[in-house]
Amino acid sequence: MVTQQYDCIVVGGASAGLTSALYLSRQSLKTLVISKDIGGQALLTDDIENYPGFNEISGFDLMNKFQQQVSAYGAEFVYDEVVSVSVNPDGNFRVKTRGEEYTSTALILAFGKTPRNLEVPGEEEFRGRGVSYCAVCDGPLYKKATIAVVGIGEHVLQAAVYLSTLASKLYVVYRGAKINEDDDLYQQLRTRDNVEFIRNSTVKEIKGGRILEKVIVASNSKEDSNIQELQVRGLFVEMGYVARTDFVKDLVELTKNKEIIVDKLGNTSREGVFAAGDVTDIPYKQAVISAGQGASAALSAFNYIQKKHGKNTIRTDWKSVKIEQK
Ligand SMILES: Cc1cc2nc3c(=O)[nH]c(=O)nc-3n(C[C@H](O)[C@H](O)[C@H](O)COP(=O)(O)OP(=O)(O)OC[C@H]3O[C@@H](n4cnc5c(N)ncnc54)[C@H](O)[C@@H]3O)c2cc1C
Repeated sequence: MVTQQYDCIVVGGASAGLTSALYLSRQSLKTLVISKDIGGQALLTDDIENYPGFNEISGFDLMNKFQQQVSAYGAEFVYDEVVSVSVNPDGNFRVKTRGEEYTSTALILAFGKTPRNLEVPGEEEFRGRGVSYCAVCDGPLYKKATIAVVGIGEHVLQAAVYLSTLASKLYVVYRGAKINEDDDLYQQLRTRDNVEFIRNSTVKEIKGGRILEKVIVASNSKEDSNIQELQVRGLFVEMGYVARTDFVKDLVELTKNKEIIVDKLGNTSREGVFAAGDVTDIPYKQAVISAGQGASAALSAFNYIQKKHGKNTIRTDWKSVKIEQK
């Protein structure tokens, strides 16, 4: 197998990774973005109101614009999952996907966060056959159906508001003992006739035949041993998001929450490996913050490559790089 060599590989194709790729390719670096999808978590919302320059835009449209801009500067894309990263004896990084291997001088880890699983019997079996982790993507499949959503905090309330506009009946299995009743999302839900809250409870099992048919819900309270069987066609899991960084745990230092530790320039504990966005230990997980971190990581990666080649480093990206010259 001939391994393809790049100046920099970016793992993750969303706010952080696409911005990194924009900055790298503007510096004429041979850049490869490897990602499972384009857009990441932003695809889960059809209404972003706080990305500068847009009063209101769907995550899909925003990410599409990012990708178009990156592609125009010549970055390459591979749609695959990265499963391992190692360091070659020559110091290059070897990035393995499910189907291929690539090597690069520098590496940017920008693979964000993914939905947390429920970890109950039946979850894997009915994933994609009734169990979903994306209300915006899969909600329309359940128009006028009886469905449930399970989760905690703002995540579950936000998904429930949307799902309640589609479903004939929506059970909201709320994991916490207390709901913030002043919450605007809760206020919207409590007035909807098709919404039933099952508080302080959790899903214990998911059952069905070819597709999901029912979920078993149990109270979390010690005083209440109530177990209910909900006859539903779909279950939406809204348990928050986790960094799935196990495949880089021997490469870079992680926090106890498994986030990649970075400094303000995007450097990780390993020389030549940079990280950006929600996968890092920087607080305030937002698209614009991921994008900013992506730019910093890319400029740091560029300077790392320049130094390796005994060339000058830079502090900005102000030069004009006309797209038509590419
Ligand atoms: C419902 C919802 C609403 C939101 N609303 C807003 C909002 O209004 N405003 C705002 O600023 N932010 C919002 N956010 C947060 C925002 O979406 C995130 O902060 C942002 O998407 C983070 O970008 P990222 O590039 O760091 O990571 P992610 O968006 O998590 O993207 C990671 C990328 O890496 C890919 N990937 C993951 N693992 C691998 C692997 N092993 N191999 C290859 N590719 C991999 C994924 O497929 C994905 O493309 C919202 C998030 C959610 C879930």
